[in-house]
Amino acid sequence: MTQPIATAIAGSLPKPAWLAQPEKLWAPWQLSGEALEQAKVDAMRLAVDDQLRAGISIIGDGEQTRQHFVTTFIEHLDGVDFLKRKTVRIRDRYDADVPTVVGPVSRKRSVFVADARRLRLLTNGPIKFTLPGPMTMIDTLYDDHFKSREKLAWAFAEILNQEARELAEAGVDIVQFDEPAFNVFFDEVRDWGVKTLERAAADLPCKTAVHICYGYGIEANNKWKEGLGAEWRQYEQTFPLLAASRINQVSLECHNSHVPMELIGLLEGKDVMVGAIDVANNQIETPEEVAATLRKALQWVKPHHLIGCTNCGMVPLSRAVARGKLHALAAGAAIVRAELGWS
Ligand SMILES: [Zn+2]
Repeated sequence: MTQPIATAIAGSLPKPAWLAQPEKLWAPWQLSGEALEQAKVDAMRLAVDDQLRAGISIIGDGEQTRQHFVTTFIEHLDGVDFLKRKTVRIRDRYDADVPTVVGPVSRKRSVFVADARRLRLLTNGPIKFTLPGPMTMIDTLYDDHFKSREKLAWAFAEILNQEARELAEAGVDIVQFDEPAFNVFFDEVRDWGVKTLERAAADLPCKTAVHICYGYGIEANNKWKEGLGAEWRQYEQTFPLLAASRINQVSLECHNSHVPMELIGLLEGKDVMVGAIDVANNQIETPEEVAATLRKALQWVKPHHLIGCTNCGMVPLSRAVARGKLHALAAGAAIVRAELGWS
């Protein structure tokens, strides 16, 4: 990394009210046609501006051009019928009405590359771009063609790799794959999940990351977390597999969660994105609270491999709260950096 104790967002930021209904997950667009395309571009500029003003060091697009972190990507693929809907259980947690895989899947054209090029022009610093991971993609669909979660995951991994290569060519420094499903399907993660992730990330001329989390602060997730016990050790099964993989950066949720932080010790050699911002409440952390989380993480990870991060996406929050949390994240990292003699 360019900076010890860098900072980054997991992925999403709230959208302006003129683009989509505020404080709502997967909110429909408020505009259409050319006006919508212009509005997305404007919103991305604001999302970048908020991060730069706060002092965040790795800049993302705030996912302003996507309605959903998985389906917006899938909408651009062949082989998936969005009119043929089925109800499936997402990550064993809640039911959702999802599109159906009806044939071989392929990518007609680049999905996010134009966005990545725009993002590249908005800052000279490092930029990160997020894509869904293969296992999380298959968990968001009904499969009426492959009839095999593993086969469909391998097919998506190929497509993701094509997209990721183009993102890297567009100047993206870190391509991150979002795999919340890795905290649920442990046998599949072991058998083929990490392998399909590595296929998606293969031979990229940039850094690669995986974001695994306990989700947004929605009711279904909060209920699930209540049943996870006093200590959340889900990462314990996956981290050794990721440590042996070629993925460069791994996230874990820390602040206000029950994840034992010593699990970072399982990620030797990796950059670790430490969640120091809770995305499930409106309480803005103090810089000192963020600093305390990062200081603790330094017991297991060296400053140049530590990235202060949000626990997950901030799209369901208000813009004011998200902005406050961005400032706290950057200020907290600055406190620890100063303590170590970098300022
Ligand atoms: Zn997340």
